[in-house]
Amino acid sequence: MEIKFWGTRGSIPAPGPLTFDYGGNTTCVEVILGSGRRVVIDAGTGLRLLGNEMKSLGAPVSFHLLLTHNHWDHLLGLPFFAPIYDEDTEVIVDGWPHAFQAMTRIFDDHLGNGFFPVAFDQLKAKISFLNHVARGPITLDGVKIDAIPLNHPQGGLGFRFREGEHSFVFITDNELSPGSERRFREFVQFVKGCDLLIHDAQYLPEELKHHRGWGHSTYEEVVNLAVRGKVRSLLLTHHDPSRSDAQVRQIVERARQLAASQGATALQIDAAREGSTLHLP
Ligand SMILES: [Zn+2]
Ligand SMILES: [Zn+2]
Repeated sequence: MEIKFWGTRGSIPAPGPLTFDYGGNTTCVEVILGSGRRVVIDAGTGLRLLGNEMKSLGAPVSFHLLLTHNHWDHLLGLPFFAPIYDEDTEVIVDGWPHAFQAMTRIFDDHLGNGFFPVAFDQLKAKISFLNHVARGPITLDGVKIDAIPLNHPQGGLGFRFREGEHSFVFITDNELSPGSERRFREFVQFVKGCDLLIHDAQYLPEELKHHRGWGHSTYEEVVNLAVRGKVRSLLLTHHDPSRSDAQVRQIVERARQLAASQGATALQIDAAREGSTLHLP
């Protein structure tokens, strides 16, 4: 599997010289399976850039779009995703059940409502909604995809991809701390032994008391999850829009020190960076 980050920022785009390194676009991750099939996780503003790349390849665009939840930073890229205006584009949407409706509401409803002048049913692409993965695992070209409910206002889903021996987990917009120990164990079980965990680490531990119930985690909680789940590598994502590149680097350093203090010296930790590509294995 190949994993490419088109957007790693949380809550709202944060462009500018201070966020140049980790990027200002909101969540969008492209996963290319071994078969060549594309799965895109979330339609944040990074989706616009992915759409431009897809167009430049010249072939008809076809992919699965897995939506984690219905908040705007995870849907805002859709109206600016150029292939959505092409007749030969096919988008198969799955994920959080309410996210599909939310995605249609960005567009006009022929009554002048919505946040964009074009109506959803005027889009030329063939867009369908499966609503499968919330009900149980799905398999795409031999890759099994499971989902786990998240601790987030209005709900959401995290995903685990397994291809052969290898797996990765993508969990954004998830508050690990308010849950019970039983709930935390569910997350540990979900990430258990994966090659790569990508998890929201929007807040610093010292900021969390002001943001309880907002549905995000700290690097401390995420490192604890990674250590208990014995994952091989961890990428922090959903960077706070106020966080500069230097501050993201500090968070990575603190996370590495914490993991080392827990004896997890083999755990690789970094921050997800817009424009970067990873290969599993
Ligand atoms: Zn978000
Ligand atoms: Zn959210």
